[in-house]
Amino acid sequence: MIRCSRCGEQKEPITKTAFYSGETASALKAHACPDCWNEWIKMQIMIINEYRLNLMDPKTDEFLNKQVLAFFKLDDGADLASVNYVAPEK
Ligand SMILES: [Zn+2]
Repeated sequence: MIRCSRCGEQKEPITKTAFYSGETASALKAHACPDCWNEWIKMQIMIINEYRLNLMDPKTDEFLNKQVLAFFKLDDGADLASVNYVAPEK
């Protein structure tokens, strides 16, 4: 069991972290519950649409890593609204 850093409840950890890897994946597995994770997946789709993110762009990766950490309050000081993102050129 883990204590989810978003909802604060003790729940089972998530086992899959989609395309997140390395430190981000470790942090998520240690701090994210499945319910909040599902919430994030929906949020992520909204963010991708809103910012018209190109998933092939490494900058998208970096951006989503920051966003997911902010979503789970694992990124000191950052939050979803304050992350600056420069959209990739087409
Ligand atoms: Zn949670």
